[in-house]
Amino acid sequence: GIFNPGKITETPKMNTSLRYEAGQKTKEIETVFDFSESLGIVRAAEQCNGSGDCRKSEQFAGTMCPSYQATRDENTTTRARANILREFLTRSEKTNPFDHQEIYEIMDLCLSCKGCKSECPSNVDIAKYKAEFLQHYYDANGVPLRTKMIAYITSFNKLGSVFPAFYNFVLKNRFFSGIMKKMLGFAAKRSIPILYKTTLRKWQRKNKGNPATGKLVYLFADEFTNYNDVEVGIAAIKALNKLGYRVEIPDHEESGRTFLSKGLLRKAGKIAEKNIQLLEPLVSDENPLIGIEPSAILTFCDEYLDLTRGPLKEKARKLSKNCLLFDDFIMREVEAGNIKTTQFKDTGLNIRLHGHCHQKSLASTASTKRMLTLPANYKVDEIKSGCCGMAGSFGYEAEHYDVSMKVGELVLFPEIRKTEESTTIAAPGTSCRHQIMDGTGRKAFHPVEVFLESLK
Ligand code: SF4
Ligand code: SF4
Repeated sequence: GIFNPGKITETPKMNTSLRYEAGQKTKEIETVFDFSESLGIVRAAEQCNGSGDCRKSEQFAGTMCPSYQATRDENTTTRARANILREFLTRSEKTNPFDHQEIYEIMDLCLSCKGCKSECPSNVDIAKYKAEFLQHYYDANGVPLRTKMIAYITSFNKLGSVFPAFYNFVLKNRFFSGIMKKMLGFAAKRSIPILYKTTLRKWQRKNKGNPATGKLVYLFADEFTNYNDVEVGIAAIKALNKLGYRVEIPDHEESGRTFLSKGLLRKAGKIAEKNIQLLEPLVSDENPLIGIEPSAILTFCDEYLDLTRGPLKEKARKLSKNCLLFDDFIMREVEAGNIKTTQFKDTGLNIRLHGHCHQKSLASTASTKRMLTLPANYKVDEIKSGCCGMAGSFGYEAEHYDVSMKVGELVLFPEIRKTEESTTIAAPGTSCRHQIMDGTGRKAFHPVEVFLESLK
């Protein structure tokens, strides 16, 4: 038989409407991140093969791509972002080929969750491309005030930590915080993270629980744990001390995450360099650097390698091998026979775990699950959620609030709402815990806090 009789289509010739003309050279564009592995940023963007895996729904599990899952709009896919970047970088006639509002608009709803970095079959890494784009876009158009405020939040927190009660009063006061949110473009329904009464560094100076001997481990007092989630840091130190480890917080800078997420890459590069110079001589396989907040400690294993070149990159590589998440360190010690299951209580606990996007993309939640089931009667069920929707400052920004909450509603919020009150919710990410509270009213704990409670 004949299919569609009488319907004749005249297709253009196969050698017309091609992406590139014959002999066209790929542009070499100077970048802050090192794109040498993909032979430059244009070729990195070209890696998208159009397969459309980034259009999969949340029912298929995984993280990629939360903005598409929430909006179902092609403009918010990983593919759209790779394609617009490739198109403008290839065809722009401007001296700064990143200086195009069209790219900004398509990149805007990317949550920088890094889901694509591990789930896209071509490993398109939009979080990296977006940060690079923003740096050049701001070079041409200036850095907005809100972007600066978010990037430099650690400096404000440092200042505020001199009088935390006053600082918190301003942040919590409806009138003052309302004006501030309106002026800066933060969502009115969000509460700004407040400061703990002391910093983790100050607490550690007075800590009497540190054993005089015992294996020395370094703790990375990241900017979120040092000022806001100090209780989580204290739990980590207490747990390590209880297990016989001597904990030191070495001299270091913040991780640079806030600068990376806002695209201020040159500043992030300076922070990375300082941290590498300070920590590389100290940290080793025997004395690793342990981190609590995934988005902070994982910069050592991801962005620091992209922000450095030459001998500094070699140092960054060496350092990254001994920078571990708390859970990975604990499981390494269990495997080495240094931590025994007899050190845990035999009471029972049901836990539901929401993993951090960066942890899922760059490491894994396997160690978290194994660590939380070291006590014989603890049970862990990992929620098949992707990104929580907060993604650092993304969910705080007024124009992103609705998408942020829609992302939370895809899987995470409904799963938490149907979780019994007696079940503990665990989430290693500071933003995730905040989002869970805002979206469901449930308090989530860092796995480290749950772990401390499980020790005899
Ligand atoms: S971004 Fe990745 S998943 Fe999406 S279409 Fe391109 S290659 Fe496929
Ligand atoms: S980083 Fe996340 S939000 Fe951005 S394109 Fe990749 S999967 Fe989508």
